[in-house]
Amino acid sequence: MQFKDIIGQNEIKAYLIKCVQNNRIPHAQMFWGASGIGKLSLALAYAQYLNCTNRTANDSCGKCPSCIQYQKAVHPDLHFVFPYTKIKGKEYCDDFLPEWREMLKNHYFSLQQWLESIGADNKQGIIYSNESEEILRKLSLKSYESDFKTMIIWLPEKMHESCANKLLKILEEPPSNTVFLLVSEQPELLLSTIISRAQMIHIPNIQADDMKNSFSPGIVHTANGSYLQAKMLLDQKEESQANFIIYRTLMAYVFKQDLANLKKFSEDMAGKGRELAKSFLEYAQHVTRECFIANLQENTLNYTYPYEAEFTSKFRRFVSIYNIDSLTEQFSRAAYDIEHNVNARIVFFDLGLQLMTQIKSS
Ligand SMILES: [Zn+2]
Repeated sequence: MQFKDIIGQNEIKAYLIKCVQNNRIPHAQMFWGASGIGKLSLALAYAQYLNCTNRTANDSCGKCPSCIQYQKAVHPDLHFVFPYTKIKGKEYCDDFLPEWREMLKNHYFSLQQWLESIGADNKQGIIYSNESEEILRKLSLKSYESDFKTMIIWLPEKMHESCANKLLKILEEPPSNTVFLLVSEQPELLLSTIISRAQMIHIPNIQADDMKNSFSPGIVHTANGSYLQAKMLLDQKEESQANFIIYRTLMAYVFKQDLANLKKFSEDMAGKGRELAKSFLEYAQHVTRECFIANLQENTLNYTYPYEAEFTSKFRRFVSIYNIDSLTEQFSRAAYDIEHNVNARIVFFDLGLQLMTQIKSS
């Protein structure tokens, strides 16, 4: 990770670079702030810069042997501690390193995304007490290649109490040439004694100006300085745009009573898989309700994107108090059937036929 790969945060980058250039490297630093703003990326870029053998005034070189190993997070003197869930045969952080390195390629990710990626989505992530033995073992290793050993601890607030106590002992008598970089979202949950041993660096939310090249103004405004939030809003928008196109297509066939195309549509939908079908049916209930609300002309209650507004303004006269319940009921029943593995081709064809009777009768 190089500083140039991180969006915004220019003041923090300049500060970290100055620390290295002036050779004022605290043995423990805590990067703290909100989720999705680049804290972990900054810690990685800083560690890479610190160990680069050909660093420039603004960034690591990205090409020296140390940088190449840092970029892939495989440097033998770079160690990671992070929350996880024990599963059979995987007891320590290092057992999850392949998945962790894969996750780091995203640059911005949440604890939930990380846990999902290791198949622990419904569990709590913890840094278990036995991890402290691993930390001690790694610190006792002689550094292989670089001046500094780096120990990056992501979300130390998820540490088991006994692990936190052992970490505190280590920080009280820090081993030489080891840099601890703690990356925290809730430092208030940590032992105050740990906090007092680390230099606290508050990472602010990303400035709107730094995000405007990647996202629309609306998304930048709503995301409030979190890259992760902006990315999620963008993904949601793309999904809902795709669903809107499907909805418009289905309604055109329904309206024209076009059975041949309805059959083809059902086959297409069956080919998209269950998750997409469910996402569409949920969206269809939402946009049908929006059409009804538009019919009532309660515009203040309408939550539509501009691309939907044109459609809903035309289609609304077909959705009234007389059919709104049965229309949404059809979509919700189709979703239930899909969830229960009924053949999607039949579900969508039947849905189309039902909608024809509803729309016609209005
Ligand atoms: Zn380098």
